[in-house]
Amino acid sequence: MAIPPDLLPGDGRFGSGPSKVRSEAVEALARAGSSYLGTSHRQEGVRSVVRRVRQGMRLLFSLPEGYEVLLGNGGTTAFWDAATFGLIRARSQHLSFGEFSSKFAKAALAAPHLEQPDVIESPAGTHPLAVARPGIDLYALTHNETSTGVSMEIRRPEAAEPDALVAVDATSAAGGLRVDPAQFDAYYFAPQKCFGSDGGLWIALCSPAAIERIEAMSGARWAPASLDLGIALDNSRKDQTYNTPALATLFLMREQLDWMLDNGGLEWSASRCDRSAEILYGWAEASSYATPFVAKPDERSHVVGTIDLDPGVDAATVSAVLRANGIVDTDAYRSLGRNQVRIAMFPAVEDHDVAALTACIDHVVASLST
Ligand SMILES: *Cc1c(COP(=O)(O)O)cnc(C)c1O
Repeated sequence: MAIPPDLLPGDGRFGSGPSKVRSEAVEALARAGSSYLGTSHRQEGVRSVVRRVRQGMRLLFSLPEGYEVLLGNGGTTAFWDAATFGLIRARSQHLSFGEFSSKFAKAALAAPHLEQPDVIESPAGTHPLAVARPGIDLYALTHNETSTGVSMEIRRPEAAEPDALVAVDATSAAGGLRVDPAQFDAYYFAPQKCFGSDGGLWIALCSPAAIERIEAMSGARWAPASLDLGIALDNSRKDQTYNTPALATLFLMREQLDWMLDNGGLEWSASRCDRSAEILYGWAEASSYATPFVAKPDERSHVVGTIDLDPGVDAATVSAVLRANGIVDTDAYRSLGRNQVRIAMFPAVEDHDVAALTACIDHVVASLST
């Protein structure tokens, strides 16, 4: 089935990670190619890009004095493993409400040197709240649960012990959702979502309390060097990583960060996501066959939207037809098992492309039912 060309979005990438990389950033990389790619990450050319990423993050998130930007290789998943060595002292609490938030909980559960974590679960499509408890030294929150399209406001649990840390998986949220840095100690993410780059790197915005914990834990308990946050801290302070990073990934992230900052910063990029979300959820609510999966409007993510389709409309077929027409990665998260489409609305995605996507879905569904 061919969708009429005038209905198609200008860019058909709606995947939740890897996600749309802006052509302007790719072109800038191509132009810088011969003087940047293939050069040493210990020299100024690459270090200046890392320095700009670290400075740019401070500006974008208005980080208070004393906060530091750390980075390392291996993406968010590697950061979870590093955190089980160097950020959780003995016992963590995890809010588990989807595939990603459950994974950090599993990593803490499997770590033989940690006490059993306190895991608070809620059904897919909702989120639980943290509960301050004695002996919890790290609260693990997720700003945006990418598998279900649920976002939650980031707030320190009331009555947590004074030196307890709040660590936030912001992989799909950072750069697209608003956050108050006073409410977190570690806000960590990877560049393949709102930062319109490639995977394989982690970035963590760390408060003075988190830095203090990292320094106290490093050396106090064995950790593999590649997962030692103390080593990552030392290297980050020199605008380097412990081992070789992907230079293209760093460059594309710097481009996206500068694009956000040049246009007005986090408020600007979050507003882009707000507009896309208004279009997507507004369409679903008005539709006779589509419904936002997340029941509570204020928990509906503005960066990853999940839309249930009526049983009479097969979402997998809709996504397959869209894919054949160049509109890719609208499939529901594999393990969620719902008759659903999932649409990334990261800052790089144009709101008019989201509108075009909804028109394409309407066209496909009407054609399938005749
Ligand atoms: C994508 C994603 C991850 C996994 O990131 P990797 O860089 O692939 O390890 C973790 N958490 C959330 C919320 C995500 O969206």
